[in-house]
Amino acid sequence: AVAYFGAGPSALPTSVLETAAASLVNHNGSGLSLVEQSHRSALSGQILQNARDSFSKIINASADTHTVLFMAGGGTLQFSAVVYNLFTAWALKHPELAEKGQRGTCEYLVTGGWSSKAAEEAKRLVGEENVNVVLDTKNFHHAGEAKKFGNIPEAGQWKNNLKAGKDSAFVYFCDNETVDGVEWPKGTPVDTLGEDPDRIIVADMSSNILSRTFDASKFGVVFAGAQKNVGSTGVTIVLLRNDILKLLASGGSLPPKLTPQIPVTPVMMHYPTISKAGSLYNTLPIFDVYIASLTLAKLLQRDESGKTALQQQEDESNAKASLLYGVLDKYENIYHVVPAKSVRSRMNICFRIKEPGDEAKFLKGGEEIGLLGLKGHRSVGGIRISNYNAVGVDSVKKLAVYLEEYAKGI
Ligand code: PLP
Repeated sequence: AVAYFGAGPSALPTSVLETAAASLVNHNGSGLSLVEQSHRSALSGQILQNARDSFSKIINASADTHTVLFMAGGGTLQFSAVVYNLFTAWALKHPELAEKGQRGTCEYLVTGGWSSKAAEEAKRLVGEENVNVVLDTKNFHHAGEAKKFGNIPEAGQWKNNLKAGKDSAFVYFCDNETVDGVEWPKGTPVDTLGEDPDRIIVADMSSNILSRTFDASKFGVVFAGAQKNVGSTGVTIVLLRNDILKLLASGGSLPPKLTPQIPVTPVMMHYPTISKAGSLYNTLPIFDVYIASLTLAKLLQRDESGKTALQQQEDESNAKASLLYGVLDKYENIYHVVPAKSVRSRMNICFRIKEPGDEAKFLKGGEEIGLLGLKGHRSVGGIRISNYNAVGVDSVKKLAVYLEEYAKGI
């Protein structure tokens, strides 16, 4: 059997793939493939509703406080969408300042390649002078590795760089940096950012959503491409706080032109437009929403013994990650985990093999016994084990044995 550790698109539960495969030919005995059905049919509406309800239930976000949107364009589209929407929201909230030609500032905590890309996009859209890089860990050296993402300093070292919430359009971070294997420790940096209630907190959770619990009430916007822990490539889930949606909707049902300084949101990124249309402003890939709904339903099945589904998934994710890091640490003469211990990702375990040139040998040996998808991202090299929800405990155990045997030279 093959065990797949690719970083995204990544493994999906086999039962989900089997149900989806049948649906591709003949959805639920309807005689039509799901990809042949209109996105506006009752059937598609039901699939969307199921996905939305399951997601909200799993993360414990009520419809009274948060709206769930399904959008195309991946996480990358959201890099732009949050900028357009939240500068618009800032201008709607501060009309007297916007009329004077001001536009507020957006703030970024840069801890890896993806948050870095998001900050660069913001600079393109609103100008460098309106982007406050609160923290850039590429310049925070650790373990002798200069100019590499791999550690996050204590909040005391960066929190004074934050603006007051009322001057800030939003503050952004990436909860798990997929390429660099760096994950914010649970509950951070939201604890620090939330000290000022005026701050709108935005998080990219593309690669660790549904792997641990989080307090949705603290976030203004959370987004996640489905292709890692939720489903297949093609849809992105956006969780938006209702007060922000309401403020944005007050600008009109289509994107408004407020002042010359505030960029007009392209309609496909305009959250109120997408929300008002129930995520069906244009043709949404319903088949991908269906795959997400199946994965979410499967996760919800865990919701039985005293703990919620997400708490149980979190326990499992932590246990799988500890097993792998345990072996890597045990053989530290052979392996070198790249990020510092305090920020090691539970989802993307990035390490090097110390002996130069041996990584290809390691990868080849793994492939020969069905351990696939272990090559590190092309920008950083090395080995990366992606430990997403669909990667079974058995696959992780098999990999742990291989790590052990490789280290012992067996
Ligand atoms: N953010 C994170 C954390 C990611 O891992 C990725 C992709 O791997 C993205 C954003 C970009 O997502 P997409 O390729 O769906 O646009």
